[in-house]
Amino acid sequence: MSSTALVWLRRDLRLADNPALSAALQAHENVIPVFVADDSDDPWSPGGAANAWLHRSLTALDRALSELGSRLIVRDGPAETALGALIDETGAAAIYWNRLYDSHSRRRDETLKRRWREAGLDARSFNGHLLIEPWEVETGSGNPYKVFTPFWRNASQRIPSREPIAKPRQLKPPAEWPASVTIEALGLKPTIRWDSGFWTVFEPGEAGAQAALRRFRRGAITGYHEMRDYPADDGVSQLSAHIHFGEISPLAVWHGAGSAPDAPPVDVEHFQRELGWREFAHHVLYHFDRTPTEPLNDKYRDFPWREGYEPLLAAWRTGNTGIPLVDAGMRQLWQTGWMHNRVRMVVASFLVKNIRAPWLEGARWFWDTLVDADLASNTLGWQWAAGCGADAAPYFRVFNPVLQSQKFDKSGDYIRRFVPELSQLDNKTIHEPWRYSGSDFTPGTDYPLPVVDLKTSRNEALDALAALDPAKRGAKN
Ligand code: FAD
Repeated sequence: MSSTALVWLRRDLRLADNPALSAALQAHENVIPVFVADDSDDPWSPGGAANAWLHRSLTALDRALSELGSRLIVRDGPAETALGALIDETGAAAIYWNRLYDSHSRRRDETLKRRWREAGLDARSFNGHLLIEPWEVETGSGNPYKVFTPFWRNASQRIPSREPIAKPRQLKPPAEWPASVTIEALGLKPTIRWDSGFWTVFEPGEAGAQAALRRFRRGAITGYHEMRDYPADDGVSQLSAHIHFGEISPLAVWHGAGSAPDAPPVDVEHFQRELGWREFAHHVLYHFDRTPTEPLNDKYRDFPWREGYEPLLAAWRTGNTGIPLVDAGMRQLWQTGWMHNRVRMVVASFLVKNIRAPWLEGARWFWDTLVDADLASNTLGWQWAAGCGADAAPYFRVFNPVLQSQKFDKSGDYIRRFVPELSQLDNKTIHEPWRYSGSDFTPGTDYPLPVVDLKTSRNEALDALAALDPAKRGAKN
């Protein structure tokens, strides 16, 4: 007897190495791929940039499915109603999906799995999103890890040795396709085309993800260990949004890097270690699910943020702080939906420590503007920068954005690319335009003066920390 399975696709928008899809194809004759737009009660429903990406990713997936004789069925949520109706309409005996690890998805998925199983359905979830599931590693005393190095020492020993599963050759369509709304109807695409700059850099979808991995294996992986810190160079993979949406599996990226011809082991290891940070971020999110809005370290709950920080926050968001590297990063984010990791650390430190605005303000702005906005990695990144999270930078270690700029964008090429009003400044002054004294550029007129004095604001941040914890008084090194 022919049996039908639904494959509920969420952030696994791919055909290759998709464990839920592959299990459904093995056990059932007809497989119906489904996407449900279900973010009604999700406090972290995707932001504008991520939705713009999602629109294109779903379109690419539908196209790829049609090449295999199938299609993507799209429904409006909530998931329970939409999928319940589809199960009834198609007579599906099974529903499979790959797991997500944020508390909203977990609660929903656990409830649905229980209900569907009680109703006699074969409801099953798989790991298609991580190398190591958050519960697979623990400290010697049986607790979750809060520090990356021991986490990775343990987790990196347990990476599955299996090869990624190949893309299926065909998906047999059901006798009759259930109704579907169009991807367009989900309203994910921006009505004003503020996203056009994104697509000069990125190609959402599985083919785009694989092309990005191929490019990286052929090029930037060699030298990654060193070059990953220089934002003007193409020294990183730019795979983050592809990985976030599951257009490529972490295992395929892991193996892809490991088998890159001629790539020096130091570069491969460093890159795989960065994938390890993504694993760690999910481990922390899973075990401490309040961290998207609350510091992991309780001590920082009452940190005295600057009163009236809002105008400074506005200058930060629009890339008008008067600090060139910070502004270049914030404008790269606005124009391309992505920002280099080194610069993410610098802009986050500047917001939290020099402007002294709450880290959650920064996290929310990133959430709305990053194409790779990911609850686990974004939360970890912001709490790291604020000094209140897992394996965080000590609060008193304040990045100096001018020194960072002189070190990592020595020739000013990155700044020139995104802050064109500074392009005529020489390699020295471009990092500190307020020091310029010629006649063809006027600091404060042609480009803003710094919104805060770096030294004073740093000292104020350290005093605020000392007020929070008298033991830290005097730790101004
Ligand atoms: P590569 O250097 O090529 O690294 C390969 C992959 O490893 C990345 O695609 C990513 O999946 C993973 N990775 C690398 N560094 C990290 C890291 N520090 N933490 C977690 N995973 C990592 N990353 C996101 O994917 N989404 C976010 O929302 C996000 N927010 C961040 C916020 C802040 C304040 C900071 C400091 C970092 C944030 N990161 C986030 C981590 C990191 O900046 C990006 O993953 C990285 O810049 C993506 O570029 P890439 O793909 O070229 O990275």
